[in-house]
Amino acid sequence: MNRRKFLQIGAITTPLFAVKKSFAKNFDQTTKPIVISTWDSGMSVNAEAWKILSTKGTSLDAVEAGAVHIENEINCCVGLGGFPDRDGIVTLDSCIMDHQANCGAVAGLERIKHPVSVARKVMEKTPHVILVGAGAQQFALENGFVLESSELSNEAKHAYSKWLKKNEYTPVTNIENKKQNGPFAPNFFEDGTVNHDTMGLIAMDARENISGAVTTSGMAFKLHGRVGDSPIIGAGLFVDNEVGAATSSGTGEEVIRICGTHLVVEFMRQGYSPEMACKKAVERIIKRDMEKAKRLQVGFIAMNKKGQYGAYAIQKGFLFSVKSNNENQIHPSKYLL
Ligand code: ASP
Repeated sequence: MNRRKFLQIGAITTPLFAVKKSFAKNFDQTTKPIVISTWDSGMSVNAEAWKILSTKGTSLDAVEAGAVHIENEINCCVGLGGFPDRDGIVTLDSCIMDHQANCGAVAGLERIKHPVSVARKVMEKTPHVILVGAGAQQFALENGFVLESSELSNEAKHAYSKWLKKNEYTPVTNIENKKQNGPFAPNFFEDGTVNHDTMGLIAMDARENISGAVTTSGMAFKLHGRVGDSPIIGAGLFVDNEVGAATSSGTGEEVIRICGTHLVVEFMRQGYSPEMACKKAVERIIKRDMEKAKRLQVGFIAMNKKGQYGAYAIQKGFLFSVKSNNENQIHPSKYLL
């Protein structure tokens, strides 16, 4: 079953109003194993991670498998099917972090299908945390990854040619509200605005170990060489196995400025629930520049050590997906503006 089909079926079987009700019911429940992920596309990602979590596998293997799954999708803003930068080149960012604070990341990686697996190799086989650009690609090739074609996916080609006509660099990311036709609307709109679809996921396994991973092609039509929050530990992803973990999607620069996911985890350490911790991080972004925040979207999702989860975004429209023994659902995130 392809992703679109799976999502369509998901849309039929899990209407959002039903989701809201059970969200309240499950919110404080201790649940493990559990996996949560950004966006509605997280449903199929969670399903892949669940195959490992439900058979007593590790959270690290689960988050890698989930990320690999979406990197395989051709018509998705993640992986090689994602949108290119303003020079027409797809550059990928990814990171992974385990329950012992081991972590690895790649940024600006070209023509390699599974950046998350390269990130894991950086973590396991090098003394470093981040490899970028040509060096990351060289490392990938030395470790058995294959150089893929540089051709854009059909959706990306279409979006890029539209964007070239305007040739403006306005990274508008607060457009989920355009998704009037349900949560599975396209990532590109004919007026040239582009959605963001970074996949961030966090899993807690049966041994209560938490890991996380993020994978993305980053902000569409970015400057060549731009790196967002997604591969930055403490910005796009942070795991502290004593407390919990968080991941983000949205305008990466705003997340980096506040060390967003590290901040969320520190708020949870202070005793805030995952939802409140995410809210406080969003407030921090808004407080810095309210006018700017009105034009942007950032969403955080978080999970604590009890398996409680929550999310918060600047704007309406951010979604996240949850899979545990109790549920398999998409949730609308709360939002501030
Ligand atoms: N956070 C990503 C970035 O700034 C964008 C996204 O979420 O789509 O690269």
